[in-house]
Amino acid sequence: MTVTTLTDVVRQAQAEGRTVLTEEESKALLSQAGVRVTETRLAISKARAVALAKETGYPVVLKIASPDITHKSDVGGVRLNLATAAAVRRAYDEIVASARAKAPGAHIQGVTVQPMAPSGGVEVIVGMSRDRQFGPVLMFGLGGVAVEVLQDVAFRIVPLTRRDAREMVQEIKGYGLLTGFRSTPPVDLKALEELLLRVSDLAERTPGLAEMDLNPVMAYSDGTIAVDARMVLEKE
Ligand code: ADP
Ligand code: MG
Repeated sequence: MTVTTLTDVVRQAQAEGRTVLTEEESKALLSQAGVRVTETRLAISKARAVALAKETGYPVVLKIASPDITHKSDVGGVRLNLATAAAVRRAYDEIVASARAKAPGAHIQGVTVQPMAPSGGVEVIVGMSRDRQFGPVLMFGLGGVAVEVLQDVAFRIVPLTRRDAREMVQEIKGYGLLTGFRSTPPVDLKALEELLLRVSDLAERTPGLAEMDLNPVMAYSDGTIAVDARMVLEKE
């Protein structure tokens, strides 16, 4: 990836008149901040997607790359666990066709290619938004229905202390899912706390960031990895 510094990314976004950063750009910034992400690369053709898949190593994930599409799965824009070049070719066509049909008018750059994260993790989410009064605020919760339906989330004001990070993880109702549940081993709680601290640090250092959304992050017994990310810049 060539565009990696915040200045580069912001300049690029501003030149294109957008405030929403792509998954690729958001992950590059997170990676720089010490947050582990699935390395994500843009393919603007099917042949390039196949080449990137080979470089990445199978199985891979293909996702629609469009600054106008926020919820990629809603438009049929995410294909997981692709194990062969033929599967990548097919997924490329299907994703682009589906996105064109379901999001007419969206500017489609191509698709991104990234490694499939191992199974057996617990999906969590980390978010940052700016409160008029308190400034940047961090949110933590379990992924999926836990956040959308149950609103089982914890909030703290940035900058987080180590103790804040620990408390945020422990105070969600779904905490028991993180400490080992049936066949799922306990997740690495230290790594989760470290993740929260790094996102807090990034938010504190970067006043131009209005929002961050790491959704989801896979939490394992030996670390975490963010598989989807989105950032929004403050309007100038
Ligand atoms: P959306 O824009 O719809 O939020 P995501 O990138 O979050 O799209 O992908 C949808 C779902 O696919 C995620 O919630 C996660 O369960 C799964 N997923 C996405 N990327 C990966 C990956 N690299 N490895 C494993 N699972 C993934
Ligand atoms: Mg997502």
